[in-house]
Amino acid sequence: ELIGDFYDDNGQVSLDPGRTLVDYVEENTVTSAGTLAYRYIDYSTSRDGEVHELTWEQFGVRSRAIAARLQQVTQPGDRVAILAPQGLDYVISFFAAIYAGTIAVPLFDPDEPGHGDRLEAVLGDCTPAAILTATGSAAGVRKLFRHLPAKERPRIIAVDAIPDDVADSWTSPEAALDSIAYLQYTSGSTRTPAGVEITHRGVLTNAAQMADGIGLTLESRGVTWLPLFHDMGLLTVILPAVGGRYVTIMSPRAFVQRPGRWIRELAASGDGAPTFAAAPNFAFEHAAVRGVPKDGEVLDLSNVIGLINGSEPVTTTSMRKFNEAFEPYGLSPTAIKPSYGMAEATLFVSTTAAATPARVVYVDRTELGRGRMMPVAQDAPGAVPQVACGHVAVSQWAAIVDPDTGVEQADGHVGEIWLHGDNIGLGYWARPDETEQTFRNRLVKRIEDGTHAQGAPDEAQWMRTGDYGVYFDGQLFITGRVKDLVIVDGRNHYPQDLEITAQEESAAIRPGFAAAFSVPLNQLPPEVFGHAGSGLAPDRDDASEQLVVVAERAPGKGKADPVPIADAVRGAISTRHGVTARDVLLVPAGSIPRTSSGKIARRACKAAYIEGTLRGGYTQQAFPDSHE
Ligand code: ATP
Ligand code: MG
Repeated sequence: ELIGDFYDDNGQVSLDPGRTLVDYVEENTVTSAGTLAYRYIDYSTSRDGEVHELTWEQFGVRSRAIAARLQQVTQPGDRVAILAPQGLDYVISFFAAIYAGTIAVPLFDPDEPGHGDRLEAVLGDCTPAAILTATGSAAGVRKLFRHLPAKERPRIIAVDAIPDDVADSWTSPEAALDSIAYLQYTSGSTRTPAGVEITHRGVLTNAAQMADGIGLTLESRGVTWLPLFHDMGLLTVILPAVGGRYVTIMSPRAFVQRPGRWIRELAASGDGAPTFAAAPNFAFEHAAVRGVPKDGEVLDLSNVIGLINGSEPVTTTSMRKFNEAFEPYGLSPTAIKPSYGMAEATLFVSTTAAATPARVVYVDRTELGRGRMMPVAQDAPGAVPQVACGHVAVSQWAAIVDPDTGVEQADGHVGEIWLHGDNIGLGYWARPDETEQTFRNRLVKRIEDGTHAQGAPDEAQWMRTGDYGVYFDGQLFITGRVKDLVIVDGRNHYPQDLEITAQEESAAIRPGFAAAFSVPLNQLPPEVFGHAGSGLAPDRDDASEQLVVVAERAPGKGKADPVPIADAVRGAISTRHGVTARDVLLVPAGSIPRTSSGKIARRACKAAYIEGTLRGGYTQQAFPDSHE
């Protein structure tokens, strides 16, 4: 039995019109009062972890107490930002803001290094009336608002200091299914993060879509180390509220330092519950390399039903290494599920079918650059692997569209992915123009035979994802971001493809830490023209796009001579992709800008490159592995 009571007789999502997220949690506090709801393992105080647990009854009391406190100092619809460290107080705070009838804004602890600018931008954007934090982080939070006149400062509440008995004064909010429950900020890979308005309807629909996509039952439990402010981390802790068993939470740092902790929690516990988790691609490789149990340790991973691999391009190497490492421990070859999602869709868009392994297709690179999926043999010259992201969720539609004309494209042809469904956010908070452009689009023409918009109303509004994708053999493939596409001499190159070539060519490059982008010739720094490899002469009037690759040095390669490394990378890119990298710049680890969720920010990297700060060795605070 799937979680929740969310589906009609045709298997489509159908919500009870009278019930919000609050009603689901309240029901749990009564019908499952003594049952475990959330578990946090704190590895910061002990290597083996200190376990903290909350039953539904306890969770309800804490949520109501903090909500009641919020109701004293806020109005319904006010934004309430969560700036707490990873842990149970974070989860409670998120639900408390929703319990109060305010709009929750899941953000991060200001003590989290390196992303102060991002935090400041987002706080300026959502103008919270109150901040929920923990006693230990309150000083850092206060510092953030010091520059504001006292009257404009939000109320700062340390949630662990609020006594349980305040819960008695909580009053149920007047929120409806279409009220905004929270703002999900995008990661900021290509821009300043934008706050997507997620309604109760949106999040409940997406939870039901996810449960159906992964096959979650009332017996399932989850494990997560993802940051709770990131959509994938947040949805994992929302799922138990609507059905299934408890979720085990740890911090991103706990995972990065010892990925075996994640694997151990995934393994079958006494209850034999089917277990799921979600993580970005790099995590699978990291766990395979550093998370395999020591000799003699017994682990049973046969209970793992779904490991969502999403939020970044999925690579075949990462999946292969993970499967090879954990197959001896009973991991099913169907466990890893390449998936696609984004904040604008609440989270979840598509995933690989429960019973099938991930599908990889090798296609011709040049044809792909021209927008066509042309399968070739794996060992053919120019073969590039494409990993399928499976099937689009129930009650959601994804059409491949020519972004210039709004016309749906036939299967096998690359276009922009457009989405429709009740899980799509209302718009971006305080950004009416971008909301209009992104969320309010009409599909001008559908494919006559086999449209992927079948069932969506003619007058439906479609959300432009900014991602290129293609249907092939019945599955959705994501080829790359529109904004990041590298166009040189009229030919398209996907940056991740160029980056993989660079890091495969040289062991001096830190895997996963390269950025490829194009720069107009007349904005290239003078150093580029100084060496023969660039093949260029300066020309003030020439604004043609030129390829640049920036790559971080691998551990232990800090002093390696950059010249032969750059030459080798340039050679490989030229042979494989038929394009000249005018500059291959090696930078110290931590230099390439990344988002607070660890994604490469290529446009920020390009800006820093043009500005010259990258070459100066300026070090960005990198997440997620800056604490290794
Ligand atoms: P911003 O929109 O602020 O620039 P972002 O797009 O990274 O940042 P998110 O909403 O967190 O913010 O991430 C969604 C994006 O992540 C998708 O639009 C897509 O570009 C990328 N993505 C997600 N899953 C996959 C996948 N399986 N393969 C390739 N890309 C993916
Ligand atoms: Mg985005």
